[in-house]
Amino acid sequence: MKSKHPETLVLHAGSYRRDAATTAVAVPIYQTTSYQFNSTEHAANLFALKELGNIYTRIMNPTQAVFEERVAALEGGVAALALSSGQAAEFIAVQNIAHVGDNIVSSTDLYGGTWNLFANTLKTMGIETRFVDPVDPEAFARATDARTRCYFAETLPNPKLQVFPIAEVAKIGRARGVPLIVDNTAAPILCKPLEHGAAVVVHSTTKYIGGHGTSIGGIIVDGGNFDWEKHADRFPMLNQPDPSYHGAVWTQAVKPLGPVAYIIKARVTLLRDIGAAVSPFNAFLFIQGLETMPLRLRAHCENAARVAKFLAGNAKVRHVIYPGLMEGEYRRRADAYLKGGYGGLVGFELAKGGDAGRRFIEALEMFYHVANIGDARSLAIHPATTTHSQLSADEQLATGVNDRYVRLSIGIEHIDDILADLDQALAKV
Ligand code: PLP
Repeated sequence: MKSKHPETLVLHAGSYRRDAATTAVAVPIYQTTSYQFNSTEHAANLFALKELGNIYTRIMNPTQAVFEERVAALEGGVAALALSSGQAAEFIAVQNIAHVGDNIVSSTDLYGGTWNLFANTLKTMGIETRFVDPVDPEAFARATDARTRCYFAETLPNPKLQVFPIAEVAKIGRARGVPLIVDNTAAPILCKPLEHGAAVVVHSTTKYIGGHGTSIGGIIVDGGNFDWEKHADRFPMLNQPDPSYHGAVWTQAVKPLGPVAYIIKARVTLLRDIGAAVSPFNAFLFIQGLETMPLRLRAHCENAARVAKFLAGNAKVRHVIYPGLMEGEYRRRADAYLKGGYGGLVGFELAKGGDAGRRFIEALEMFYHVANIGDARSLAIHPATTTHSQLSADEQLATGVNDRYVRLSIGIEHIDDILADLDQALAKV
């Protein structure tokens, strides 16, 4: 499939055209744990990676494979690895190249769960996260040393919704042999981080890709555009014999398959050992979601733009946080990195403090009050008391959360109904 258009890629990209056994057009759910080997030699070759093929569904599955090929094509990468959650994707993306004694440099503007993973769980494994404010891209350079294994950021981080300077930080990293990993969960299609120099993209497919609030999942896309071998000292895990795979040197072992050392290693070592596999059924649901994502995203973006404008003109609202309403450098970044819309997320601060946030959420009738984004339905949450409640007050402020802040994930309902619900709830605050 040669198309560059996301509308076509989500339906046709990859090697799947029809099911080889039945000619079924829709991708079947291969609900199987294991696969019959053709011979003992075939089995040995698969395990030795001399031949690629299905072994066991903890590591790969044909339904999952179609999903992976389509997301890889959509992002412009060479291969992908679907996982059981976005958190699993973030974790494996980093752990694939960092171990005890190493560090990563991450943007402060992160989803609360990722912040916790980096600040606390990675720390227990001896991996230090150096958080820097992306207001100044050079902060990434200053935090880098010989043990820095990657930079990490979100394209469109909520709650601040300040678009990350992808090309600027990717360039700083590439000059030092440090790859940039970008969480593109909130801006699929709108932004293609690999085109701006990122090396790896991750998604929580739970959000816009799944699109219907039914399934938890994640995916890592390998850009195939980072020379791991050239920076062998920085990436011993890809360039020195791996004792967990009979001494394989990943950059050499998979060379005949293309620039896929990073993603193959993640699959055959970390997914094998940690077991955060996506179920075939969820992979099927993600394929369904992906097929209509371009259409949905357009509606999310159009509705969110209308909501931002409506809130900006409402006396109960002190401040609206939306990339399309920002000025200066943040507007420049939004326009440079988001194409076709500013996304479906809108934040705002209520004019009243105290329990106004709680009262607003309780007054909503159509919006769901849930800890999620990217659902077809409109969603609202008060982060300070929910998604970000496990952070300290200082950490909350660093991520852009305060008491008055409400986050909206605008759905694809009719705009009149969305605005009417917000209007009546604001009237009760
Ligand atoms: N990344 C972002 C930007 C998210 O918003 C989330 C979840 O809200 C995650 C990662 C984690 O994904 P999951 O909930 O699928 O584990």
